[in-house]
Amino acid sequence: MLDSFKHKGLRKNLVQHIRKNGITDENVLKAIETIPRHFFMDSSFLEFAYEDKPFPIGSGQTISQPYTVAFQTELLKIKKGDKVLEIGTGSGYQACVLLEMGARVFTVERQKKLYLKTKKFLPEINYNPKIFYGDGYKGLPTFAPFDKIIVTAGAPYIPDTLIEQLKIGGILVVPVGSSGIQIMTRIIKTSKNDYKKEEHGAFRFVPLLGDKAYD
Ligand code: SAH
Repeated sequence: MLDSFKHKGLRKNLVQHIRKNGITDENVLKAIETIPRHFFMDSSFLEFAYEDKPFPIGSGQTISQPYTVAFQTELLKIKKGDKVLEIGTGSGYQACVLLEMGARVFTVERQKKLYLKTKKFLPEINYNPKIFYGDGYKGLPTFAPFDKIIVTAGAPYIPDTLIEQLKIGGILVVPVGSSGIQIMTRIIKTSKNDYKKEEHGAFRFVPLLGDKAYD
């Protein structure tokens, strides 16, 4: 795949736009400037890859809007070496942003087709998160605890399991709500059984799906 000067230029503009909209974490901005987002999209959408919009990635799912990726990632306060769990691998773009920032990434996808596609594709462009097929509501008990957890689909409620799988001092970022609109929620785990909760505005995600829709 080709990452041309034109693509790089478009990425610079996109980063400028995201910065103007309030993202200040330089490592987040650098990751977005580095990763060729057009690699993650169906060819018919190539020319739109650097607009600040979500796009279809097949199986009824979307790659999140770049600003939303940046916003969620900034809330996670990623440090080099952080062990991060992502729920909702999708195209793998968000996982690559986290890897670019030096995190160790574990990511879970519940749609087999997307899981297989992304698991094959990411190593081809030299990104190697650990990718799992499963239900994100359950987290990844075998690999817990995590420094950070990010949910990239709209959760009707905050799954307790995910808070349990956070280290003390760890951060969970999850869009919460069901009817097409979610409140970006940040949970900071303050002790084994306690946490602080913050709300960071309204967003729109595809829904986090339960066991029923498993394929
Ligand atoms: N982070 C992705 C965008 C995710 S879209 C990216 O960067 O491209 C949301 C994803 O969550 C979809 O791929 C959807 O299939 C997945 N998903 C929905 N419910 C899930 C669940 N219970 N467990 C894991 N993944 C889930």
